[in-house]
Amino acid sequence: MNRIFLSPPHIGDLERKYVEEAFDTNWISPAGPHITAFEQELASYLGEDVHVAALSSGTAAIHLALIILGVKHGDEVICSTFTFSGSCNPIIYVGATPVFVDSDPTTWNLDPTVLREAIINRIAKTGKKPKAIIVVDLYGMPAKLDEITAISREFDIPLIEDAAEGLGSSFRGRKLGTFGDFGILSFNGNKIITTSGGGALVSKNAEFIEKARFLATQARDKASYYQHTEIGYNYRLSNVCAGIGRGQLKVLDERVKQRRSNFDFYVKNLGNDSEFEFLREPDGIFSNRWLTTVLIRVQGLTPENARLAMENENIESRPLWKPMHLQPVFSRSPYYGNRLSEKLFNEGLCLPSGSALDYVNLGRIVACLKSAY
Ligand SMILES: *Cc1c(COP(=O)(O)O)cnc(C)c1O
Repeated sequence: MNRIFLSPPHIGDLERKYVEEAFDTNWISPAGPHITAFEQELASYLGEDVHVAALSSGTAAIHLALIILGVKHGDEVICSTFTFSGSCNPIIYVGATPVFVDSDPTTWNLDPTVLREAIINRIAKTGKKPKAIIVVDLYGMPAKLDEITAISREFDIPLIEDAAEGLGSSFRGRKLGTFGDFGILSFNGNKIITTSGGGALVSKNAEFIEKARFLATQARDKASYYQHTEIGYNYRLSNVCAGIGRGQLKVLDERVKQRRSNFDFYVKNLGNDSEFEFLREPDGIFSNRWLTTVLIRVQGLTPENARLAMENENIESRPLWKPMHLQPVFSRSPYYGNRLSEKLFNEGLCLPSGSALDYVNLGRIVACLKSAY
């Protein structure tokens, strides 16, 4: 049996054409026409008059957002606890402390009520406001962005929207990645579209994006020789990778359709049982369904047993993200919430969700899950 991967890259012919163009014109470096074009095409896809800087990863984008917001040693930054470590590692890079906030049951993302409590409590405890809020749109599901942007405005704390998993999703008609002072995207190999590795920083503030491009190319002052008055980073996306990204962006909406159709298939074939619970879209919310996640409520079938049963048939699945406040490396960071993320981690599983999955393979996955109990 061929292996079914969780979320493999899905590349077409257009990508090859753009990459060949990069080779033919010898633009192989982290400069070149594909980068500018990719940035413009991303900005026009996202709408809302945003500006975009193409970078080497989503993690780099969060790092630069924190630097540009002036987050420093001794500051605190609030972050969703139910996420991948790439969301919060950059908080440590700048010497700040993450404060983790748990999930709300309808989106599994940052709970606005707990967020407000956490802000008030940190101000009371430390005498100063958290310097930023990082809200994550996990698995492509939009967070409660109306309430969260309102809290960010009320307390005047900048918001970073980690839409690494949410490209192609929207909240009340507005694309994810465009909320907050900064949005970030990832084009890592397992994301909905990929540049093999890469990311982007998004903002309505053109100066912020100009600054990000400057910092991402080693912070060179305007001079013929190399002069630096600031510390820079090597975070720019290469022209070759941007070529892949241009091709991928053209098929993004199709990829979203395919991922959503995976989700529909799983719900149709497993979801009628109260034994498999899927996360529904609240009104006005459109998820790219990057990964289909399921909570397993079957007597005698743990998510780990289900995972092993699938692995036995050469099918890759994965536990939900282990919350950050349970990670040994963050064990000393403050945490707020009712531990919903721990429950999700214990009961959930990510099912194969690649955009090239066909009905034969989806059927194989469902049959395997059903025979596991
Ligand atoms: C992938 C991911 C990141 C980091 O993106 P990279 O491009 O891999 O650095 C950050 N946050 C979330 C939620 C992610 O899934």
